[in-house]
This record gives sequence, C-alpha cells and structure tokens, in this order.
Amino acid sequence: MTGFSDILKFYKEIGADFVVRRSPAPEAEIRELTRKILSCTKCILHETKTNYVPGEGHISPEILFIGEGPGETEDKFGRPFIGKAGQLLEKIIEKMGYSRETVFIGNIVKCRPPNNRDPQKEEVDACIPFLEEQIKILRPKVIVCLGKVALNNLLNTNHAISKVRGKLFHYMGIPVIPTYHPAFILHKKEREEISRVKWETWNDMKKVLALVNGEADVEG
Ligand code: URA
Repeated sequence: MTGFSDILKFYKEIGADFVVRRSPAPEAEIRELTRKILSCTKCILHETKTNYVPGEGHISPEILFIGEGPGETEDKFGRPFIGKAGQLLEKIIEKMGYSRETVFIGNIVKCRPPNNRDPQKEEVDACIPFLEEQIKILRPKVIVCLGKVALNNLLNTNHAISKVRGKLFHYMGIPVIPTYHPAFILHKKEREEISRVKWETWNDMKKVLALVNGEADVEG
C-alpha cells in the first residue's frame, strides 16, 4: 500500500520534496511577527505607550475582529479589548457561540494613541503592514471591522459606519463585515437607541455566522 511516507520518500528520491514541505507553522509565524511588533519604533505612538498590544486569540480562527487601537486598559495590560468595550465585545462573541480564545482580536494600530484620539495617517501607514501580515498568517474565514476607523483604514475607504454596517466587503479575498464599535453602543444614552444599535449589531453578526457557515446569500 502506498502511504504518505512512501510518497514523501519518492519525492525525496527525485529531489522534489519541496512539493510536500509545509510552510512554517502559524504559531511560529505569529510568534515571530509578535516579536517584531513588540520592538517597533516606526511611529511616535511607541514613545507614549505603556505596552504594545499586538492582538491575541486563535492562530487559525474562523473570525478576526479588528478594532481601531488600544485604549487605556489595553495599554496598561498589553491585551486588546479588555476594558468596558471589550467586555461588551466578549458578550457578543459568546452569543455567537465563540470565546475570546477561539477567535482572534486585533487592532489597526498596536500602540495606544494619546487620549484615545483616532490614529493618524502616518501611524496607520507604519502599523498596518503588521495587520496585513497577521491576516496572511491567520487566514480567518471572516473579518469583522469594529467601527469606521477599523473599516476605512483596512479598506482605504471613507464610509460612514451607519451606511455600510452589515454590508459585505472583501480584503485579500476574505469577506469583511463592518459593524458598530462596541464603545459606540456603550455611549448611547436613550433606551430605544441602545436597543436599536444592539439589534443592528446582532443582525450584522448573524451575517458573519452565515458567511462562516458558507451560506452565500449575504449581500454586498
Ligand atoms: N477599542 C479598540 O478599538 N481596541 C481595543 O483594543 C480596545 C478598545
């Protein structure tokens, strides 16, 4: 019987074992990339940050959530989405049937912009290659952009999130669904407004789940 080892032996004999040689494991690639992020000085944000926040989660996740950049708590502990907005994101993730450990959570910039301002163009330009590299290694089935800063910096667009949330975009051939940033939901004061944005967010997440499950009826 011809097994995989026989095939490998045959390829070795004819000098063609590169055909079956695997690329480095995603763990090793992510570890190496994280090492680079943790010593980055490419923009001024590294001067004011407390900790780099490279992102965390599963190394071959079905879903990648992308925020804009670390806030105060994330900066303090070096982990993404662990403050109030993070707690809400975690609830959403759990309602979807996942956990923090089974998805990947990252950001457009890996260092906190002072006073939580939006990251500036040169900061995004310096940092986004790290996210691109993360996406190439992680190969998620679906990307969720949390808010307009995440969406517009990933796709190089200028959309209002309320106009495009729940719509289907693509990045590197991977489906992208934008939705509200959890902090936006938390800032709502009126009960009806809170219910509306929560309901809309959940509808967006149902589209994400449909895409993960290969259901093709999600509109662009
Ligand atoms: N908001 C973000 O966009 N990212 C975080 O990591 C935390 C809050």
